[in-house]
Amino acid sequence: MGLRVAVIGSGPSGMYAADALVSQDDVEVSVDVIDKIPVPFGLVRYGVAPDHFSIRSVRDTLDKIWDKPGVRFIGNVEVGKDISVAELHEYFDAVIFTYGAARDRRLGLDGEDLAGSVAATDLVAWYCGHPDADRATFEDVVPSATSAVVIGVGNVAVDVTRVLAKTVDELNSTDMPQYVFDTLGRSHITDVHVLGRRGPAQATFTTKELRELGELAEADILIDAKDLELDPVSAALVASDKVAARNLEVMREWSTRAPGGKPRRIHLHFFARPVELIGDDRVRQVTVERTELDANGQANGTGQTYAVDADLVVRSVGYRGEALEQVPFDSSRNVITNDEGRVMRDGVAVPGEYTAGWIKRGPSGIIGTNKKCAVQTVTCLLADAQAGTLPAAPHPSSGEFDARLSNVRVVDTAGWRKIDAAERALGATAGRDRTTIVQVDQLLSAADA
Ligand code: NAP
Repeated sequence: MGLRVAVIGSGPSGMYAADALVSQDDVEVSVDVIDKIPVPFGLVRYGVAPDHFSIRSVRDTLDKIWDKPGVRFIGNVEVGKDISVAELHEYFDAVIFTYGAARDRRLGLDGEDLAGSVAATDLVAWYCGHPDADRATFEDVVPSATSAVVIGVGNVAVDVTRVLAKTVDELNSTDMPQYVFDTLGRSHITDVHVLGRRGPAQATFTTKELRELGELAEADILIDAKDLELDPVSAALVASDKVAARNLEVMREWSTRAPGGKPRRIHLHFFARPVELIGDDRVRQVTVERTELDANGQANGTGQTYAVDADLVVRSVGYRGEALEQVPFDSSRNVITNDEGRVMRDGVAVPGEYTAGWIKRGPSGIIGTNKKCAVQTVTCLLADAQAGTLPAAPHPSSGEFDARLSNVRVVDTAGWRKIDAAERALGATAGRDRTTIVQVDQLLSAADA
């Protein structure tokens, strides 16, 4: 009899793990990919910027995995609520946790909880149409803001800056829900300030993404040439890191551009560490401290501060993974405790438990990084199966697992296909390829149609 594996989370790492499991010939494997929401693909659907069409097209590649024999989607089932991890072991030989890192990281600054101060994770979830996104907050703070501060200089910061600085026309062909277009269309934001606490050489954005900020229809990009001067630590980094060198080249060109008089402006600040958010009924200003780098390339405050007006502050300082009940968790790194994907408890591998993706290694890398990561995990799992170290499972059939979930409104692969068709049809009514359906009840109705 073949192996039965449950994959928890249908983002890229979960899908790549499922694919790796069924694409080998040594042992027959069937995989149930379980997701707590009714639709698959996790951060590819709810994290990749809607205007990044080529990256989003990874969805089409992932979607083909459902056609492979033995792979099933089990959507709208929350592990920890609808079924426990312990119970999953009664139905599966192995479980792979691939539920990602969806939470925000906090800065610990005074004023961080003022109205108008939001996490990039939440803003991204809102404009991508995640069912749990806080619509009311963004429909309030976006149209009433005039100046935004984005904290952090990673690719997520670049994404949110671009979305805030683009016109609705520039976003028109995306799959954003209609209410997102409507809200962005009412935005009066003229200035977006992006704050990097270290220098331009230490920024974690990539050149292709950075370059787009200088190509927007209605937004100029402004950067002070002084911020691009390199100290010895940064010069050494630029000499050895091609991405840092290319980024710097792009920014140097921008620093020589005369402003084009466009109605919106993106201001890139480096050596700029936020120290406090100031406001009344909402945030109004960010106090920024000028920094300098030490010999290790870390930012130290100089005591010199300045104020940036901001009635919207987006902290884009990384994602954070969360623990799942009964699963060992390394709370210093916010990942499941693991060794190359084998879940570890007190230094010993937990039989039949594995992990891949951001909840295994932390929130870094591009989508393709998750393929390599998932393959490493699956290799461990198959080796353990071969060595006979998986727990002795009772081998119930998929039918018995389905019966266990009979009290849950499961969205299966056929249901997802119907949602997919409904989103394409909804998009077609507005001349778009697709429009994301947001609400869970609407997704479930589409699945049942
Ligand atoms: P990230 O690349 O780790 O960037 C986090 C940023 O936050 C860094 O600039 C970091 O600065 C800053 N930061 C952290 N703590 C801070 C603090 N206390 N105060 C001020 N700044 C702080 O993370 P991300 O942008 O969330 O992206 C996550 C992953 O997804 C990355 O691997 C990214 O490349 C990937 N991604 C890729 C794309 C794409 O390919 N188009 C799009 C989106 C995301 P320090 O360096 O000084 O810590």
